[in-house]
Amino acid sequence: MRRAVCPGSFDPIHNGHVEIIARAASLFDEVIVAVSTNYSKKYRFSEDERVAMVEETVGGLRGVSAIPMDQGLLADFCKEHGAEAIVKGLRSTVDYAYEIPMATMNRHLTGVETVFLQADSRYTHLSSSLLKEVQSLGGDVAEYFPRAVMKRLLR
Ligand code: ADP
Repeated sequence: MRRAVCPGSFDPIHNGHVEIIARAASLFDEVIVAVSTNYSKKYRFSEDERVAMVEETVGGLRGVSAIPMDQGLLADFCKEHGAEAIVKGLRSTVDYAYEIPMATMNRHLTGVETVFLQADSRYTHLSSSLLKEVQSLGGDVAEYFPRAVMKRLLR
């Protein structure tokens, strides 16, 4: 049984996330989408709503589940949940530079490996913050979100 964790705040989940989670699900028997909350940050959606949106969009994929991850070390979360790998999407060299020290630290802490999947070229320009900003200024971002998420954004 090979289990991986896909971590993030998912505020909200967009199609770039969905694509990475789906690819992770094809590589691992089980994928836990760990929805994190940093209490010093402001979110558009509550933790419950972010978890619900992840479940609504990827909960139907084989082996995929979503759970909240309270503050604490991601490496410890992986250990607690019996996950041997963290799966991350890489959009650019900027993501790479940011992710490598964290991946190395997580491996040194508990032995958990980080698997990087290159973002699909359709989604390399996407981040939840950019999409929320464009949407709040009246831009049409419907093609980048699952339908259930778009509904909540328009509410
Ligand atoms: P965070 O809360 O860590 O800032 P997000 O919740 O936005 O990050 O994203 C969670 C993870 O999803 C990222 O760490 C990255 O691995 C992946 N990701 C984010 N945006 C994209 C994208 N456009 N394409 C592929 N993967 C992405």
